[in-house]
Amino acid sequence: MTFEQLGLAPALLRALGDCGYTTPTPIQAQAIPLVLAGNDVLGGAQTGTGKTAAFGLPLLQKLAALPKPEGLHRPRVLVLTPTRELAVQVGDNLRSYARYLRLNVTTLFGGVGMQPQLDAFRRGVDVLVACPGRLIDHLDRGSCKLGDVQMLVLDEADRMLDMGFLPSIKRIMKHVPQQRQTLLFSATFEARIKALALEFMRDPRQVQVAAQNSVVETISHRAIAVDGAKKRDLLIELLAQRYTEQVLVFGKTKHGCNRLAEQLEKAGLPALAIHGNKSQNARQKALNEFKSGRTRILVATDVAARGLDIPELPLVINHDLPMVPEDYIHRIGRTGRNGASGEALSLVSPDEASLLRQIERVLGREFSLETVAGYEPSRTLRGNAGASAGPRPRGGAPTSRNRRPHGKPQHSQANAHAHTGSKQSRDGQRGAGRQGERRGAR
Ligand code: AMP
Repeated sequence: MTFEQLGLAPALLRALGDCGYTTPTPIQAQAIPLVLAGNDVLGGAQTGTGKTAAFGLPLLQKLAALPKPEGLHRPRVLVLTPTRELAVQVGDNLRSYARYLRLNVTTLFGGVGMQPQLDAFRRGVDVLVACPGRLIDHLDRGSCKLGDVQMLVLDEADRMLDMGFLPSIKRIMKHVPQQRQTLLFSATFEARIKALALEFMRDPRQVQVAAQNSVVETISHRAIAVDGAKKRDLLIELLAQRYTEQVLVFGKTKHGCNRLAEQLEKAGLPALAIHGNKSQNARQKALNEFKSGRTRILVATDVAARGLDIPELPLVINHDLPMVPEDYIHRIGRTGRNGASGEALSLVSPDEASLLRQIERVLGREFSLETVAGYEPSRTLRGNAGASAGPRPRGGAPTSRNRRPHGKPQHSQANAHAHTGSKQSRDGQRGAGRQGERRGAR
């Protein structure tokens, strides 16, 4: 399948050539013809699958084919995104796809001055990529009118709901004409996403690049049981062992991320933190440093890292498990992109046992809990089964499923983990497949 065969116009094909895209990704192959044909589309795709081009290319093509409005251009395509970073990224991508189309793409988010945004509206906007909060500010002051919108995208809709944007979305919808094409993208198709689709879409066609809630299969998932108080030292050791790779580390709180970055720095591992308390400029700067490879370690909260486009990231480490299990999928969506292999490594304390179970339910797979010598947890993570160091019960199966023996010297133990990661992930994937089928059958 080629982009030509999907029916894209020469100006877009040329821009795609400039971007170095040769073959459509599965979500693009499925969604582009449906969007070009004017359907509402409910897309199940996580970040890293090429979903931005899947909705962006056909929308730009349709927009370019419409008669140019006379006078001031008001937004005819509106893309709503949950975070500023994602808005910037989607805006940048759409701008590069629209390079030969003479369409204006404007990005709108909070935390920056209003004036440049007011100026942009005065100059005219064809495609508006916006975060709900700032868009509502503009709607309230009358500086933005959405009466000409013909195509609407809700990008990462699940995340927008997580962030409490449902009332904002509903308000924005009142400003958008009913007669329009609506696309909704979400990593998961939970009931609340289906409800949103029912309310705002007309007879949507559903496309999905992987089974419900499934994660990129090239990723190996590992979990190490460790006491919360020892996580930092273990992280430092793991990062020091893998000093050549770029790593995105997820922390729970803004303060925790800052502190962790400082502690890594002190341990000789330069790191930057990115979270919602930082100014937009500081976040963008840290992200650019990381993207360019000048910074090897980025410590991030979920909100700040949402949808960040970091190519070919080999490793994501969850220093803390996410509070919302679906965020695990979003976090690890930063690795294993476009078929590259990646690794997701979670440090799990006994206090996080129930979070781990929730993540396992969402993933449809059970982690093989590893331990690292010297960092064994003081309490067990799974029921009565011991996750801490100790001999297996003689003459029987290990009490904890997949429990690994301990007592090797620390270094070889750690190497053994790295080595066996792929096996574990294969085991995990088999489990995921079975679960996925069961879910699909319901
Ligand atoms: P997205 O899921 O939209 O965030 O895209 C993930 C990454 O894949 C981005 O860096 C895109 O530029 C890139 N990408 C999207 N589509 C293609 C394609 N067909 N070929 C190569 N790279 C792509």
